[in-house]
Amino acid sequence: MNAQTVTSVPAYAVPAAGAPLERATIPRRPVGEHDVLIEIKYTGICHTDIHRAGDETGGIFPMVPGHEIAGVVTAVGSGVTRHRTGDRVGVGCMVDSCRECDNCRAGLEQFCANGAVETYNSTGRDSGPTYGGYSTHIVVDENYVLRIPEGISLDEAAPLLCAGVTLYSPLTHWNAGPGKNVAIVGLGGLGHMGVKIAHAMGAEVTVLSRSLRKKDDGERLGADHFYATSDPATFEQLAGGFDLIVNTVSANLDLDAYLSLLKTNGTLVNVGAPPAPSRVTMFSLMGGRKTLAGSLIGGIAETQEMLDFCAAHGLGSDIEVISGEQINEAYERVLAADVRYRFVIDASTIPAG
Ligand SMILES: [Zn+2]
Ligand SMILES: [Zn+2]
Repeated sequence: MNAQTVTSVPAYAVPAAGAPLERATIPRRPVGEHDVLIEIKYTGICHTDIHRAGDETGGIFPMVPGHEIAGVVTAVGSGVTRHRTGDRVGVGCMVDSCRECDNCRAGLEQFCANGAVETYNSTGRDSGPTYGGYSTHIVVDENYVLRIPEGISLDEAAPLLCAGVTLYSPLTHWNAGPGKNVAIVGLGGLGHMGVKIAHAMGAEVTVLSRSLRKKDDGERLGADHFYATSDPATFEQLAGGFDLIVNTVSANLDLDAYLSLLKTNGTLVNVGAPPAPSRVTMFSLMGGRKTLAGSLIGGIAETQEMLDFCAAHGLGSDIEVISGEQINEAYERVLAADVRYRFVIDASTIPAG
């Protein structure tokens, strides 16, 4: 398959909000001057995929989800300088942005003032809909394509493109490292990467999980301590203990209780998004000058930095590889929290036509 002939490729698509995924053929734009054609090897299944696939108001259908993409470059445009045929590459949540606003110039493309072009369920700069990674090939501007170092296998690298950077960015921004007590709330697709990365950064890591069911896993992943949040004693025992808490849970938690676990000047940063507004008592912030914060993926340069960091420390995602036919079942299992810790679709199993 060469650059000139790729105009339509096999995929798994969601035909309408809430409908099961089915086999489809989707268009990919011709490889432009600054484009890279990627043969997709693996794509992770993110919670966001499932949320968007069921979104009756904001979803663009048919939808091809997938923004944790790992593959190999099979063709490049004439003006491409950053990637070559044969390179191992990844694509995360964005495939373009305006490149001119303050945020884009600062490497914070995820906060592009004109709206970053998301990898799927978005409108590209060519005005066409974007289709994500549940597919065999994708065409992306070279500036939004990441290098995957040799130190990580492509299947374990795929989830780093969203889950990995979603945790790496706040851990870096709020200085997780030696001498810092960091708590990760929730041990799922996001949380398990948070434990690995915070541990590799040298922080003392505590997992706060609903039960002790995943305690052995947490310790294997690098946690120094593991507590059950269903036990009220946990909040008494750990009061005032953390410099940084990263909350990966996308359900409404008692934020006041979690803020009580912070040291003076500590930060509770949220990377999960509950559907309903959250409540917080201002005294929980005022006493101890605490910060309640949020973080969303990371910029392109930071995503590369994360991949290089993970490769240097031998970190990939813990995954379960599935075939295209198993995506619908995998969605059910993600919703039931029955995955340790990320499903990754083997793109070679996506049938043509
Ligand atoms: Zn995601
Ligand atoms: Zn911008």
